Amino acid sequence: MFPVTEDPILSVRNLKKHYPITQGILSRQVGAAKAVDGISFDIAEGETLGLVGESGCGKSTAASSIIRLEEATEGEVIFNGGDRAGRSRNGDGSHPNDVTTFDDEELKAFRRDAQMIFQDPSSSLDPRMTVGSSVAELLLVHGMTDKQRRREIVEDLLERVGLEAEYYDRYPHEFSGGQKQRIALARALVLNPEFIVADEPVSALDVSIRAEILSLLNDIQEEFGLSMLFISHDMSVVREVCDRVAVMYLGEIVEIGDTDEVFSNPQHPYTEALLSAIPRPDPSAQRENIELKGTVPSPTNPPSGCKFHTRCHMVIQSDEFDLEQERWRALLTFRDRVRSGEVDPESIREALALENDDPSSIDDETIKQELRMEFDLAEELYDPEAESILQDALDALADGRIEDANEQLSTFTTPCEKEVPQETDHGNGHLSSCLRNKPETEHGAPLADD
Ligand code: ADP
Ligand code: MG
Repeated sequence: MFPVTEDPILSVRNLKKHYPITQGILSRQVGAAKAVDGISFDIAEGETLGLVGESGCGKSTAASSIIRLEEATEGEVIFNGGDRAGRSRNGDGSHPNDVTTFDDEELKAFRRDAQMIFQDPSSSLDPRMTVGSSVAELLLVHGMTDKQRRREIVEDLLERVGLEAEYYDRYPHEFSGGQKQRIALARALVLNPEFIVADEPVSALDVSIRAEILSLLNDIQEEFGLSMLFISHDMSVVREVCDRVAVMYLGEIVEIGDTDEVFSNPQHPYTEALLSAIPRPDPSAQRENIELKGTVPSPTNPPSGCKFHTRCHMVIQSDEFDLEQERWRALLTFRDRVRSGEVDPESIREALALENDDPSSIDDETIKQELRMEFDLAEELYDPEAESILQDALDALADGRIEDANEQLSTFTTPCEKEVPQETDHGNGHLSSCLRNKPETEHGAPLADD
């Protein structure tokens, strides 16, 4: 089901975080936002796992559920619970090291061992306190009463994150964004943790200093033997720091593997699309540019089957048609937009009439052409059968018969919206969940090499 690491420091199993959606004065639950919907992975000692995906796909929710800033809805987060710790499951099947069931005392110990770094470094620094005392405060909370000793430890740490011991007595506002992130890192390190979650730690920083902070993270991680969950929406950042990478889409992990493997041989179209967004130094070596249109759909009402099918450039064609892949994608998008009521021929008619000196010239033909253009449907589809259905649908639309248009367009279906993809194992812990990777390639050829 997922690549299992021997003696992992962290094992996440089928983790879910659903936010209830309530209505009315009785706050009746009417639905749920499935922000994280069953993710599983391991992190080995000293390893950095990247969690990557667009904004809104559930990365931060995963992080805060793992570190227990929020309560998970379901699943396990087993920390330090491998054989190494000599711990096995309780009689009832629960695990003694499951963070989601820790009591206050266990949680306090966990909060020492596991630290978090956020996108905005100011969020962990009190503007009214010197940065030194902000960092030293944690030592006091965890029982170090010797003030001089605290100061020594913090001064040393400030130097190790590339600052100066004298900065101890300065205030947060005296520092740049990059320096503040260094201080936040010192604060995360002061209790000598084993595990750090870094949620977009360089996204808010000036591009010119990102590389410095990433290389600092790399050095510190090695020096302290840290394990890390590194969250980013940016594949090029992930490549700098991560040993392995998990690609997340709409609450699920769609691909996971060694960073080199995933970058050189991506198996999921979503991963391909994220990779193609990375600027390349040599434009001639550029792979096909795949544009990810729109945004991540709402987790309240996620698409059926493969959740990525509404945006996937590789969405599988039904056997009845033979279209260019691009047109097939366009047809399905058109179908979905008409179905959701977003296509309004009347407003197109009015808009065209406004632009035109002779509004009477805006006939049905013009509307249909406009729709084809807007939805990238070509003047005529290559497949005559598909073209004839599309024509009927466009006629119906221009005529205001929306139901008829919907009925015509519902002829276009894809296996991707019906079947939930299972994980395919590509070896070496490289897994992906895409219908096209099914072993018996009943849905056409496997992903083409580029
Ligand atoms: P990311 O960090 O990948 O950008 P988030 O974890 O912040 O994504 O959000 C994932 C999804 O969960 C989004 O659709 C977001 O709107 C939703 N979400 C986050 N927090 C809450 C909350 N407290 N209540 C309801 N929905 C939430
Ligand atoms: Mg986030």
